[in-house]
Formats: sequence, structure tokens, C-alpha cells
Amino acid sequence: MAVDDDVRNVIIIGSGPAGLTAAIYTARANLAPLVLEGEPSSTSDQPGGQLMLTTDVENYPGFPQGVLGPQLMLDFREQAARFGAELQTVKATKVDFSSRPYGVWVGDPDAPEPTYRARTVIVSTGAQALMLGLPNEQRLLGYGVSTCATCDGFFFREQDIAVIGGGDSAIEEAIFLTKFARSVTVIHRRDQLRASKIMQDRARANPKITFLWNSIVEDVVGDAKVEALHVRNVLTDEITTLPVGGLFVAIGHVPNTDLFKGLLTMEDSGYLVTGLGEGATSTNVEGVFACGDVQDHVYRQAVTAAGSGCMAAIDAERWLENHPDPD
Ligand code: NAP
Repeated sequence: MAVDDDVRNVIIIGSGPAGLTAAIYTARANLAPLVLEGEPSSTSDQPGGQLMLTTDVENYPGFPQGVLGPQLMLDFREQAARFGAELQTVKATKVDFSSRPYGVWVGDPDAPEPTYRARTVIVSTGAQALMLGLPNEQRLLGYGVSTCATCDGFFFREQDIAVIGGGDSAIEEAIFLTKFARSVTVIHRRDQLRASKIMQDRARANPKITFLWNSIVEDVVGDAKVEALHVRNVLTDEITTLPVGGLFVAIGHVPNTDLFKGLLTMEDSGYLVTGLGEGATSTNVEGVFACGDVQDHVYRQAVTAAGSGCMAAIDAERWLENHPDPD
């Protein structure tokens, strides 16, 4: 990748609701932001963020009839581009925050020069799905094991499938999958769901959904594709075999912060810590801001991510005003 000699005002890493809102605001502030959207991948980047993996979004204000997650993100992107944001579907592979202007690499992280330099950087790399950590789960990923009902539900028509987890994600996926599947078994390690009451009620009222309480998956069975699960009841230790054609893992998320290890202050869980400098979205490095799920493990909603993206844009804009380039 060629080196870009211009110093950018703002580079935004990540393109979910937080990053694209930051792009809209910084573009409208005439800062000509560059958005590194990430590269499509089933295991790491998800340009557009986690809403690309959902169907109906019913709680994003302004859409009384709901909106499809991928459509909402396409609209965010179009709005950012309309005001002059430059969007590149590439992955940031290294950053250097040791001196200003900051360096951002795309492609070979060992290249001597960064691909881009920027006065400010907004980190909005989001979070991604957790997996159970079973060897056969990895082997059969894409062959019946999935973390995305929206992407893969279609392939499980008239099959019996299982969803792991008891949060909103698991219940949302279970309900969605009933559009295709013959039956959906929600396997949860406790006897109470974490999901919101309204989602619980919908799931319990759905005749295709059954619950396996106090149960964890010990192994995924199948040579070329998922055929069954070994499920252990944690109260009795009894192991049963549940024949299923698909396994949807929906047990939560980890923040995408590997790129910033040792550079930005983070919690033990990997979430970035903000509010350490000028502005609520500031990190420990001046001129580097963080917004969205990469720094929020509490609210984790599209609308809160978008709100914090707006805050990061305003923080970056103010920081640029207050810190002109050294002569
Ligand atoms: P979550 O709320 O953290 O729930 C994760 C679930 O997976 C929990 O039930 C947890 O069990 C279970 N779990 C975690 N690790 C496990 C393991 N190793 N083995 C088996 N089970 C495991 O995550 P989420 O459902 O992805 O939701 C994240 C946030 O997004 C929440 O704030 C949620 O409200 C929000 N969300 C909202 C919507 C919506 O409004 N439409 C949709 C999706 C997500 P325990 O309960 O025992 O801890």
C-alpha cells in the first residue's frame, strides 16, 4: 500500500454506528475524515459493525416501523460519504501513537513508514462475538456452527437447531431462526434468562422454541457438518445427545482492541478506558479518542454507540482547535 504524504485531520478506525457517526460529524466540520472500515471477515472485522449481523432493529429512534440493521448502516455510510468522508474497506494493521502526527498502517505492519499520518485518531473498532472454545466448534465453523443467524439462518430450513446463551442476542437469534428452522432449542447454563422481559415473553410464546436449562455444550458432533451436540446438565452431570443440524453461539462479545495493546489504557477485559484527557471520549493518548462498543460494555446499543461517536467527533474537533500543529 502506497504511503500517503498528507497529514489527515482525523482517521477513524472502524465503521459501526460509532465510527460512521463520528465520520458524519467530522465531515460536516470540514475535517475530511478518513474511515478505515475494516475488511469483511467471519472472525474479525465486520465493516458496518454488529448491526450488519442483525435483522429488524426496533429500538433505534426515528424508525417507528423498525429498520433492517444492514440498511441502517448503509444509510449511515451514505450520509457520511455525502458530506465528504473518505471510506476505505481496509484493515488498520498497526498504529504508532508515540509522536504526533500519529501513524496508521494498512497492509504490511512491518513497512517502515505508516500508510497514513493523522493529527487525531478516533478508535471505533467495536466488539465481536465470543465462542465456546470447543475444538470441534472451530472446525465446524461455517459447517453448521455460526455466530450470525441473519447471515446463516437461511441454510437451516426445516432443521432442528440449537442456540447457546440466555441474553438478548441468544433470544433474538432463536426467534429469528424460527422463520427457517423446524425447531430451536435454547441451551442456557442457568435456569433464568438474562434477556429483556419482552424478548423472553416473545420466545416463550413461540411454539418452535424450547429451553434446555442448566445445560452446557460439551462437544459438537459431526464429521463434515454439525450433526448433534453433547449437552451436560450442570446440576446432575448427565450428558445427553441432542441431534441438531446447526449451532448458533450467542454468548456475548469481546472488544476489538488487540491493535492498541500496550498503547491505550484498557480494562482487564480489553475494553478501552475513556475520559482520561480532554473530553469524555479521550483516551490516555492526547488526540486519540474512543467511542462505541470498544469502550462500552454496559450499554452496547447502536444508539449509544452513535451518540458516543458524535461525542468523539466533537472532542476531536475541539482538540484540533486547541492544539495547532507544532511549528
Ligand atoms: P450478554 O447479555 O452478555 O449475554 C450472554 C449470555 O451468554 C448470558 O446469558 C450468559 O450466561 C451466556 N454465556 C456467556 N458465556 C457463556 C459460556 N461460556 N457458555 C455458555 N453460556 C455463556 O450478551 P448479549 O446477549 O450478546 O447482549 C449484549 C448486550 O446487547 C446486552 O446489553 C443486550 O441487552 C444487548 N442486545 C440487545 C438486543 C435488542 O435489544 N434487540 C439484541 C441483542 C443484544 P449468564 O446469563 O449465566 O451470564
